[in-house]
Amino acid sequence: MLIDTHTHYNFEGLKENWRSHWQIAQSRGVTHAIQIGTNMESSEEVVQLAQEEKGFFATVGVHPHDIADLDLKRLKMLAMKPKVVAIGEIGLDYFRLDRNDPQTTIIKEQQIAGFKAQLELANELNLPLSLHVRDDQNEAYQDLINILAATPPKNNFVLHCVSGPDFYIDAMIKNNAWFGFDGNATYKNADLIRQILKKVPSNRVVIETDAPFLPPMPHRGKTCEPWMLTLTADYIEENFEISREQLFANSRQLFPLFDPYLLES
Ligand SMILES: [Zn+2]
Ligand SMILES: [Zn+2]
Repeated sequence: MLIDTHTHYNFEGLKENWRSHWQIAQSRGVTHAIQIGTNMESSEEVVQLAQEEKGFFATVGVHPHDIADLDLKRLKMLAMKPKVVAIGEIGLDYFRLDRNDPQTTIIKEQQIAGFKAQLELANELNLPLSLHVRDDQNEAYQDLINILAATPPKNNFVLHCVSGPDFYIDAMIKNNAWFGFDGNATYKNADLIRQILKKVPSNRVVIETDAPFLPPMPHRGKTCEPWMLTLTADYIEENFEISREQLFANSRQLFPLFDPYLLES
């Protein structure tokens, strides 16, 4: 049993054939997949997908790149739909922002405000969080630490596709985060990600495809297909001695709303 804790079957490259992708993934042992919202429209789509398919669950939220799209009232309605297990993906993404451009300050402020509003919504609705944090400098990581200190999440949270400096990983271990690892952990130049994998507690590790992005080796450069989760699971089992059973148990603990459906099946 494997659960894909972060995937986008509604994205270009997968949505055309999502049923056959799901069938293939299931035949390889992927039993559940959490479809992640990134803006208002895709949040509606993933809620719909979760209705259609027994093994699918959803998160709803607005990604930092789409933050202008945030409609809190509508998001709250979506968040209360069945099989929505978290708010996400939400967070901060300053990657490749030009720090000398005055516009950048405004972009960062908008991302922070939109993120805080969604974090508060998650606390209000008692939902976990799926966080997206990315930067080529330390800034977004430090901002996230500050925001979580000011507004602590009431429920579990996962750093999806985790990366970042040591001080950040240490702070997040202290904050009891879960850590999401993707196909890119298998890349030759991914020493930083492997160091993080080694450092974080093994009962806080979950895996994800982020499909259609980040295919594991030897498929780098192609579309990431949902079945490829099994390659990332193999890699982590072999190199980090974290079993599939442990990965599944970790995901289950991360998203408690998932449990009643498991008991049903
Ligand atoms: Zn992301
Ligand atoms: Zn994603």
